[in-house]
This record gives sequence, structure tokens and C-alpha cells, in this order.
Amino acid sequence: MSSKPVLHVLDDDPVIRTLVCRVGERCGYRAEGFVEPGAFLAAIEADPPDLIVLDLAIGEADGISVLQALSRRRCTAPMMISSGLDERLLSSAVRIGRSLGLAMLAPLRKPIAPAELAAVLAAAAQDSLPIRTGDLDKAIGDGQLVPYYQPKVRVADRQPVGAEALARWEHPTRGTLPPGLFLQLAEQGPAITPLTYLMVERAARDCAAWRAAGHELSVSVNISARCVSEPDFADRVAEVVASVNADPAALTLEITETAAMADTEVVTAALARLRIRGFALSMDDFGTGYSSLAELHRMPFSELKIDRAFVSGMLHDREAMVITRAVIGLARTLGLRTVAEGVESEEVLAALGEMGCDVAQGFLIGHPMPPAQFLAWLDAGRTEAPMAGMAPRIAAA
Ligand code: C2E
Ligand code: MG
Ligand code: MG
Repeated sequence: MSSKPVLHVLDDDPVIRTLVCRVGERCGYRAEGFVEPGAFLAAIEADPPDLIVLDLAIGEADGISVLQALSRRRCTAPMMISSGLDERLLSSAVRIGRSLGLAMLAPLRKPIAPAELAAVLAAAAQDSLPIRTGDLDKAIGDGQLVPYYQPKVRVADRQPVGAEALARWEHPTRGTLPPGLFLQLAEQGPAITPLTYLMVERAARDCAAWRAAGHELSVSVNISARCVSEPDFADRVAEVVASVNADPAALTLEITETAAMADTEVVTAALARLRIRGFALSMDDFGTGYSSLAELHRMPFSELKIDRAFVSGMLHDREAMVITRAVIGLARTLGLRTVAEGVESEEVLAALGEMGCDVAQGFLIGHPMPPAQFLAWLDAGRTEAPMAGMAPRIAAA
């Protein structure tokens, strides 16, 4: 196997496909061209690319459904859309890709000039070098790490009740990077601590602003296992939230099931102190770890978030359905609020309602979006036409 970076090109136009592959090879890539999405998607797993160039109109298929399929496969390769379609359509496709958690680069406009293409591919080749710890530390210092907000609605009446803050890296040359590309690196080094407090502070500040504008919402922030087991965690979180005059009761701290069970004594003490100060605590990705019912009862959680692995496929997978129903029932008995993540269809939302689930989050309701777009989503309510990259606010049943 060569150590060259891999370029995948999906375009049904043989002239463009050959041009992009040839120029790619000259820029140091091992390039492969695909005519239709099936073979292209199969190659994502078999021969993971370092860069993707993707046409928006590929014969019968459309580029958006390819973006959705890439997101389902959790593809982390940076990608650029090449298209002759109009400017607005191109930029909304880029926004949709970003909201799906894909690493979208600036689009390539057709007709493509070979010199311009060579410059773009050469820059991307430079960028496909792995991210180093120092880059991440600097990005945090430079304010390139930002929260995107994904809405959560009450299942009973579909009214917004809050949002989850999800970290994105607005990289100056690579585009918007999803956490899959940098979180592990952060977790392995010191960057996870400033990243976590930065997210807590931004989310608390934004949530206070939503409330001041008349939206009675709460905000959830993901907390890394490493941070929860630091001895001053509870004090630091409380300090950060107080420093932006936010109400701790408007904040939910999401801790993964695995993290919550890792170092039980230190973690339980920190969580109890946060609950006493008024913060809500959510057990994230429930169902993916191995916590026992006894442990769940012992930890001071106020909310349980059912992992999307169970929720999204629930209607086609009897086991997932049985587990989701049982977990909702169990959580209710223990007095915990239930949140289902990964709600992608009306049918799943209706089934969750019937099971007594309290809150839903997922692409059906809205994708993660930048702060200003989230406010616009709230303000648009259910009357206006949906904006690009967002699911329409669904009408009450
Ligand atoms: P999570 O906390 O479980 O967040 C939910 C993830 O599921 C998000 O991915 C979200 O975009 C995705 N998602 C939401 N609805 C749907 C849906 O309907 N269908 C599908 N297929 N996916 C959906 P994202 O933003 O890529 O984040 C991935 C994970 O990275 C998060 O999982 C969380 O564990 C972690 N993360 C994100 N931001 C932060 C952060 O600030 N700090 C820490 N420690 N972890 C973070
Ligand atoms: Mg979460
Ligand atoms: Mg989760």
C-alpha cells in the first residue's frame, strides 16, 4: 500500500472525473473516480479517503442523499462539492453537510479551471496531514472552537425545551470540523479541560440570552470523563456559570454512562455537589455501557438520554424497541426525565410519545446549527418556511 493520501472523486461526467483525478495525482494523491454512489459509498469503508470531491447532481441520485449516507457512516474525511448548480444551492448544500457533522470545505464551481483545481487540491493535501495537539491548543486560544446547538422538543406538544451544545472547530482552511475529528486528541492531552469550560461558558451565556429574549429554554453541555474526575470540577463549573450570570437550573451536564461509572466515589461526590447547586445531570448514551440498575439509582442523575443506536432503528428492530420501552418505563419509575436522541422520523416520534418519553432530539426536529441560526429557528416557530439545512419545525400532533 502506498502512503500517499487518498482522493475519491464522485462525478458522473467522465471529463470532470478524469480531470479531477489527474490533477489530484499531480498534487500527490492516489486518486480514484466513481460514477455512481453505490460503489463510492462501499469504498468509503474499504479504502478510507483523505479527501472527497463530490458532484451535486449525479445522474438519478442527488448529492444531498450522498451527504446523508456519508454522515450515517460517520465519514470524517474533508470534502468539497463541485457543481455547476447555482450559488445559493451550492452554499445550502455546504450548510446541510456541516449540520450533518461532515467536514465540508469551500465548494468548487464548475467549469473548473485546472490551475485553480491544482491550487485547491494542493492546499487540501497539506490539510489532510493529521491534526496535532499544538494546533488544537492554539485553536482554543484563538476562539475557533464554538458550540453548535441542536434543538430538543417536548414529545407531548413538540414545543422547544432546550438545546444540546455540540463542539465544532471553525478551522481557517479545513472548514467546520465535527468533534469526531478532534475530540479524541483533546481527551488524550490537556486540551479537554479548556475545551470543556469554554463550552460550559458559551452555552451558559447563550442560554441566558435566549431566556432574556423570552425563550424559556435550558441548555445541555457534554462533559468529558476526564473533567468530572478532577477534584475541583464542581467548583469550577459553578464559578464559570456564575461569571456569566446564568442560572445553574438552566444547565444540564451530560455525562456518558461509561464516564459516570468509571471512578465512582470521586464522580458521585462531584455530581451530588452539582445537583445541590441546582444543575441538572443527564446520563448520556444510555444503553451503550454496562451500568446496573442499582448504580443508576445510586447516582444523582435527573435525566436519562437513550442512545440513538436504540432510537433511530427502533421501528425495524424489535429488540431496540423493547429496550427503549423498558428504559423509558424504568426511568419514569426512578423519577428521571427521559430524552431520546437520534429521532429521524415522524413514526419514531409518535412511538416515543406512546411509550411516555418526555423529550426528543434528532434530525427530524433540527440539525446542530450555529448560535444565530438556532435563534432564527426558534423565532421562525412553526409559521415560516424552513431554512436550508434545518428540518421544518414540526406541527403538533
Ligand atoms: P452526543 O452527546 O451523543 O451528541 C449527539 C450526536 O448525535 C451529535 O453528533 C449529533 O449531531 C448526532 N445526532 C443528533 N441527532 C441525530 C440524528 O437524528 N441522527 C444521527 N445519525 N445523528 C444525530 P456530533 O455533534 O458529531 O457529536 C458527537 C459526540 O461528540 C457527542 O455525542 C459527544 O459525545 C461528543 N461531543 C460533542 N461536543 C462535545 C463537547 O463539547 N465536549 C465533549 N466532552 N464531548 C462533545
Ligand atoms: Mg450528548
Ligand atoms: Mg448521546
